[in-house]
Amino acid sequence: MFRLKLTAVIAAVIAVCSTFSPASGAPSAVNAPATQCFSNAATAPAVPYFSNASCGSCVSSACGGACAYVSSSSASVWRGGDVFAGCGEKAVALTFDDGPHPHITDKILAVLEKYGVKATFFEIGRNVRLYPEVTSRVIAAGHEVGNHTDSHAFLRGFSTEHVENEIMSADDAISDVCEYETHFLRPPGGIYDSAVVEASSDEEKVIALWTIDTLDWNHRSCKGITDEVLTHVKGGDIILMHDYVSGESHTVEALEIIIPELLSRGYTFVTLSDMYLNWQTAGSGG
Ligand SMILES: [Zn+2]
Repeated sequence: MFRLKLTAVIAAVIAVCSTFSPASGAPSAVNAPATQCFSNAATAPAVPYFSNASCGSCVSSACGGACAYVSSSSASVWRGGDVFAGCGEKAVALTFDDGPHPHITDKILAVLEKYGVKATFFEIGRNVRLYPEVTSRVIAAGHEVGNHTDSHAFLRGFSTEHVENEIMSADDAISDVCEYETHFLRPPGGIYDSAVVEASSDEEKVIALWTIDTLDWNHRSCKGITDEVLTHVKGGDIILMHDYVSGESHTVEALEIIIPELLSRGYTFVTLSDMYLNWQTAGSGG
């Protein structure tokens, strides 16, 4: 059993499939847009998502103390795919792995801001140490940051202690940027064994996987990414994308199509904490 503090946010609203070429020049940190808490906030303890609201230049949750959270859970591996009463039947979570990237992450942040969408970034400790200012901008914009280990090693066959060190080192890198507590671990490749489950529990993380894999890391075309999402999406989906891709990436241009299309279909975008909260609240967690 462990404690997990969580809250809630929502979404707002265009498109093109042109070639994306990474370029330098990062936008400055932005303030989180107006947000709205879910209805179940009224029946749950009022606790802000970030326990550290006075976190330097970082911005605490726009929902502040008005939002709900889940106090405990025994779930260790969460795959998504459930529909949540409090979250709405058409809530989906965008997740971006492997960053922060010195150029791509900021382009993704710009698209998310354009549509008023919040997402979750599973960052690698070593990349956070390389580009701490990017992580700071992700947090400042009100997005969630999750733990994607320190080295991005596939976690199979290691000792529990080794996995814990991977988790703790990445957490340390993130908290060095901004006092911030991650709640989710996404093991690289989605690979885990009993040592990973044990280490995650020890470190008070929920292992968070996904339901839609865009394969954007493999230089998949804009059309390939968008078709994957738009033909399979359903409420409760966790969509796997990447903000750190070596070489050609079509993630940003695909987002410019996926987000407005899903908004037009009535979907909302939530962080993993928001989705998990509602999953637990709806009684699906175990
Ligand atoms: Zn990864």
